[in-house]
Parts: sequence; structure tokens; C-alpha cells
Amino acid sequence: MKVMKFGGTSVGSAERIKEMTKLIVRGGRKIVVLSAMSGTTNNLVEIVNYLYKKNHDGANEIINRLVKKYNKEIDLLYTTEEYKAQARELVRYHFNYIKSFITDVFTVFEEKTILAQGELLSTAMVNFYLKEQGYNSELLPALDFMRINKNNEPDTSYIKNNLKDLLADYSDVEIFITQGYICRNAFGEVDNLQRGGSDYSASLIGVAVDADNIQIWTDIDGMHNNDPRYVENTSSIAEMSFDEAAELAYFGAKILHPTSVLPAKLANIPVKLLNTMEPDAPGTTISEKESHNRITAVAAKDNITAIRIKSGRMLLAYGFLRKVFEIFESYKTPIDMITTSEVGVSVTIDDSKHIDDIVDDLKKFGTVEVDPGQVIICVVGDLVRENKGYANKIFNALKEIPVRMISYGGSDHNISLLVSSEHKKDALNALSSKLFNN
Ligand code: ADP
Ligand code: ASP
Ligand code: MG
Repeated sequence: MKVMKFGGTSVGSAERIKEMTKLIVRGGRKIVVLSAMSGTTNNLVEIVNYLYKKNHDGANEIINRLVKKYNKEIDLLYTTEEYKAQARELVRYHFNYIKSFITDVFTVFEEKTILAQGELLSTAMVNFYLKEQGYNSELLPALDFMRINKNNEPDTSYIKNNLKDLLADYSDVEIFITQGYICRNAFGEVDNLQRGGSDYSASLIGVAVDADNIQIWTDIDGMHNNDPRYVENTSSIAEMSFDEAAELAYFGAKILHPTSVLPAKLANIPVKLLNTMEPDAPGTTISEKESHNRITAVAAKDNITAIRIKSGRMLLAYGFLRKVFEIFESYKTPIDMITTSEVGVSVTIDDSKHIDDIVDDLKKFGTVEVDPGQVIICVVGDLVRENKGYANKIFNALKEIPVRMISYGGSDHNISLLVSSEHKKDALNALSSKLFNN
């Protein structure tokens, strides 16, 4: 069994769906995990925001725009009047359902239900198209098997058992279509795996069915060695380890959702990153194979806040760091980077929801400085200490950029540097030209 996940752009129009279908129908049994059509989830978030503010006209305007867009794609996608009518009815049903929340009280429950409609629509539309083309495909409703527990962690045994039962009902079917992103929570309510979470769905499904590989199909030919949104002349990396992929995804390589690597790594199932627009390009294979003696790639994580605590009392004091960490823990705020000196400690966080309370509590231990608007630049590769010279190359590349923090030695494959966001693009480009393009 294979798992193939297609993101928003891959199902973003009638034309893209037709191209994607050619890939889906190539031999072998598979579960196809789909995102919503590109832009849809953003639009659903806008609708939700209007409904929280009781701006019903605002919500209606976006709904009407979406209905028009979907109906236009339906006309282009299906050839027969029978399927066009079925798909229009589908669209009418889902958007009427969204409209039914316009007069009601609006809570997080309604929000999650609205956000789920994009994936429910895209999967049903693709399944209709496969049927119209004469293929034997079946919809597997994610809400019947994908579940998170009270800690918002996937309930892996529930997922595995329910998926197994569903698949057993259709032993003669080759192509299964299911929704990425959406799930039920511990209370059985509709929920989701966070924005971009379809990759996570694919990974969890791949592990549950012990897939040969998990294919993430998107709009670029694999993981590039730098962020293509900010750097020209980036190139695709043929192979990388799970650990490298996890670091890159966590530190901003948007092609892969950060949570999606760990399940595949634990089950040792290779993940392939492939391009729907260029299906025969090799893309990137992520596996347990370690890379040797190279810098693999650079990524950047935005919206970082740096906090420095300076304290005379830190000098020779044990237990100081524990007290600092406990404050972050009490506000459920993870720390990304940390550097220490004898008189102070600097940490970074990307969730600044509780920043005021954290700073108040930290002031018990020393003077506190807060710098918002920072970016973590993360260089990933085989950076074991025996490989001399890489740190020098990195610092040399960044010699014109003011660097606020440096973290090296936490793992064998990561050097992280903190710079102010105005220097992000320059830092990424400088690293690109000094590390990869000479
Ligand atoms: P999908 O909708 O298919 O999930 P995403 O937009 O989430 O696609 O991810 C693909 C995008 O990730 C690419 O178009 C690219 O702009 C961006 N990206 C950021 N960093 C990288 C990287 N290092 N390698 C490849 N793509 C990257
Ligand atoms: N449709 C969801 C989003 O846009 C999930 C995904 O595409 O991965 O965030
Ligand atoms: Mg994505």
C-alpha cells in the first residue's frame, strides 16, 4: 500500500485535478490524502473571523465568492451533465451548511466544523471525477478514523484499528480518497491537525497501514537547500535523513509540516517529496540513511522573540536555569534556542501569547530584555565536531549580518543563528552563495 498526499495547489483547479488524477491512477493500491483547494482554508478562516464578529454580510460575501469559484471549476472538470449536477449539489450542500451557522451562537465548535468543509469538498469532488472517468475509487471519511486524544496527540491505535476495518470492507478497491487535516477530538467533535496538517495526516495514515512509502506531492520538486521564496537558484536535495528533515521542517521549510516526520521516522517508512507539475523529477527521499560530510540545507523560522535575563545571582549558582525554565513551562511555552554566559541567559520563543506574564515572573531573577521580530536561521547538515571548517564557513558567510545568538552542539546536524527579521533575506542569500553556489 502507498500513501499519496496532494496539497492545495495540486487540487487547486479543474486542470490541476485532471493532472493529479493521471498520477493517482498509475498502478497499485493506495490511499490518496487531499488538502482543500488552494485558498479555501484561508477563506474559511476569514468566514470564521467574520462570524465571531457577527459580521454576517462579510461572511456571506466570501461564501458567495467561493460558491462561484467552485461552480466554475465544476463546469471545467466534469464532462457529463449528470456529474456536473451532482457536484453542484455537493457545493450547495456544504455552503448551505456553513450558512446555517450564521444565525447561531458561534463557538470554537462551529469554527472547527466550518474549517473542515474544504477537505470534505475537495475529496468528494475528486472522487466524483474518478467515478466519471470509470475508476473504482472509494471515499474513506477521515472523521471515521482520524482522532486526537485529550492532549491533542494522535490516538494511533484508534486510527490503525478503524482504518483497518474500513479498508477490509473494500478488498476489491484500488484507490481510496481521504481528507487530510481534519479529525475528531477526544470528545468526538470535529477538529483538525492545525494549518498545513494534511502532511501529518498522510504520515499517520502511512504508519497505520504500514505503507511502503509516504509520498507528499506538492508544487516544487522536493526539499530545496534554501527557502525558494527568498533565495534564487536553490536546488532540490535528492536524499536526507529523518532528523535533517525534521529540523528543516521545524525551522521553517514550509514544504513539510513539522509534526509529519516523527511518525514516519519511528516506523522507518521513507517519505518522498514530489512535484505534481514535474512528476518524473526524482524529488527528495527522506529515510534513515544519514548524510555525510555536507551542509544539507538552510531554513528560517519567523516571528521569534528573544528574551535575555541578566543576573548577578547566576554566577556559580546551580538551580538558576531550572527556575527560569519552570516559568516557561508554567505558561506551556516551548523554548527554541538557548545560550548562556556567566551573567545571563538568552532564550527564544515563537509563541509569545504569555510574554507579559513570563517577563513579570522572570523579573524575580534579574533584569529582563525582550526583542521581538527575530528570525532563527537554521543550518542543517552533517555537523559532527570532527567535520572541521563548517562553522567557519557559516560565520564567514554572515560576516556582514548582525547575529544576536548562536547555538551549536545541541545536535550533530544543526547550527542555529538568531538575526533580526530585517536581515533574514540577506542572511539566507549570503549562506546560499557561500555554502552552495561556489
Ligand atoms: P502544499 O499546499 O502542497 O502543502 P505548501 O505551500 O505547504 O504546499 O509547501 C510547498 C511550498 O513550500 C513551496 O511552494 C515553497 O515555496 C515552500 N518552501 C519553503 N521552504 C522550502 C524548501 N526548503 N524546499 C522546498 N519548498 C520550500
Ligand atoms: N487545508 C489545510 C490548510 O490550508 C491543511 C493543509 O493544506 O495541509 O492549512
Ligand atoms: Mg503544506
